[in-house]
Amino acid sequence: MAKWAELTQSPRIVKEFVIPKCSSKAFLLNKGQVLRVTASEGKQVADIRFLNAHDYREQFTATNSVSLNTIESIGGRKKIKKLYSKPPWQNVMLTVIDDPVGVHLPGSQCLPKSYELMGQAGHLSCTDLFDECLKPYHLSMRDLDSAGVFNVFMAVTYRDDENGTMVFQRPSCEQGNYIDFLAEMDVLVAATSCPNDSIINDYQCKGMKYQILEQ
Ligand SMILES: [Zn+2]
Repeated sequence: MAKWAELTQSPRIVKEFVIPKCSSKAFLLNKGQVLRVTASEGKQVADIRFLNAHDYREQFTATNSVSLNTIESIGGRKKIKKLYSKPPWQNVMLTVIDDPVGVHLPGSQCLPKSYELMGQAGHLSCTDLFDECLKPYHLSMRDLDSAGVFNVFMAVTYRDDENGTMVFQRPSCEQGNYIDFLAEMDVLVAATSCPNDSIINDYQCKGMKYQILEQ
């Protein structure tokens, strides 16, 4: 895929910020703008949700997007090109236009229950962080699709056992790697720098850089 930056000569940076380690932020992305997410501090995953800015009920669905991209032969469990909203809407909310790494996990975020089951009850989770950053928009996890997360740079493999057990791997990125999303509608973005200090973030939580770009 040709790089978007090459196609558009020099995109203008409208906004640029870092979401520091173990924190989150919600912000608006307008139709036609590009969101670039960069592993600016090294191996780290970002959990990102997308909601229609004008109707928060319409949200990105990871599970349905994996099947729809599979049917279209443009994606699967590791990467997707079109980010669909859940039914009944089923609209393409964003398109991935540049993805040099190409290994992610469309799925969900870490849960308080996950840490509890691992003997770390009370550990900060992306669930807590989504609740926190969406407060100004009067939204909480109760309003969100449980399978509505694009885990940027999250890498997993599956064992060839009877359960198809998922095995977490180090993040797929190296420092400086990025992914570009083109907004096909006005979206509210909620993003976390995942606070999981296991192999998922290479045993050290880091921040990530976000840029909003325009032609
Ligand atoms: Zn997390």
